[in-house]
Amino acid sequence: VALGTPLAELVALARPTRPVRALLLGGCFGTWVAHEDAAGMPLAHHGLRERAASLGAGVVVVLGQGTCGLCETAAALEYLADESAGQCGPCVFGLRAIADRMAELADGTAPPGSLEQLARWAAMVARRGACHHPDGAVRLLRSALDVYAAEAAAHQAGGACPSMLRGAALGLPVHHRRGA
Ligand code: SF4
Repeated sequence: VALGTPLAELVALARPTRPVRALLLGGCFGTWVAHEDAAGMPLAHHGLRERAASLGAGVVVVLGQGTCGLCETAAALEYLADESAGQCGPCVFGLRAIADRMAELADGTAPPGSLEQLARWAAMVARRGACHHPDGAVRLLRSALDVYAAEAAAHQAGGACPSMLRGAALGLPVHHRRGA
């Protein structure tokens, strides 16, 4: 697909079989964008940067309604926490804490105040690694809590994700999919 292609056209090329809820631009290090917001964006670095997104690894995931992007994000953060090279404290401990709390959120078992705590942890981890691994994880987390705010509130209230294979929609390795 040529750079500059409107994202609306890209979504049409994917031939979604369900109404689209959101797009993940840039893969696991990427940014969730609500479908209605993505409609006017181009598949181009400059056009996305203005909206605090990027093409990153060049992966675009189109997620339909009925698949919880928050739970997919929980699985992706589990993957990113596991992929830390284990050298920087904020990355080793911060990403693990964030991934564990996101898993609790997806399970409907997160303690009260978890959404605020995740936002605090994200601020504590961002730009604290020797590389940008934690920054990508934080970008993914923040955009998920923004685009999937309603789902986050429902999970914080005790709603559990019914999916047995979280992470499947993002194509994560099988051993990183909860329930696998
Ligand atoms: S921030 Fe980068 S260098 Fe530091 S532990 Fe994480 S992956 Fe390794």
